[in-house]
Amino acid sequence: MAKEKTEKMAGADKSACSDKHCPIHGAVKIRGRSFTAIVVSDKMAKTVVVSWSRRFYVPKFERFEIRRSRISAHNPECIAAKKGDVVKIVETRPLSKTKHFTVTEKVGAATKKQNVKFEAIEESDATEGKGKKHEIDHKAKSDDE
Ligand SMILES: [Zn+2]
Repeated sequence: MAKEKTEKMAGADKSACSDKHCPIHGAVKIRGRSFTAIVVSDKMAKTVVVSWSRRFYVPKFERFEIRRSRISAHNPECIAAKKGDVVKIVETRPLSKTKHFTVTEKVGAATKKQNVKFEAIEESDATEGKGKKHEIDHKAKSDDE
C-alpha cells in the first residue's frame, strides 16, 4: 500500500509542502474507503466539505429518492481544492473531531454544468411534493442566467 502511494505521488505533484497531514508529503497513511465528490465549501483552513448524492430506493412508493452524503475532508496545501472542484477523497485515521478523510487528487475543475446539476438536485428536493413540473421548469430557466 505504502509503495503504491509513493509511486502515485511522484506523478501527481512534485512541489513539496509542509503539511504534516498531507497524504503525499506528510506522515498520514491513507486506507479504507474512497469516494469521488464535489467540494461544496472551502471556507475552513486546510479543510473542505465535500458532498455526493446517490439514489435510494423507497419500496413503499416504488421510486427513488436522492440521498446526500456530506463529509469534511483534509485539503492539503499542495492540492488546494476550491469550491466546485471534483475531488477524490480517501479515508485516513481521524485527523480532528470531524475529519477522517483526505483529498488525494483533483479529478476535475469546477464546471458550470456540474454546478447547475448540483443546484438542480437541491432544488428538486425542496420543491418535491408541491409537485408542478411547470414551476420547476420556470425556476430552472431563471437560474440559467
Ligand atoms: Zn503535499
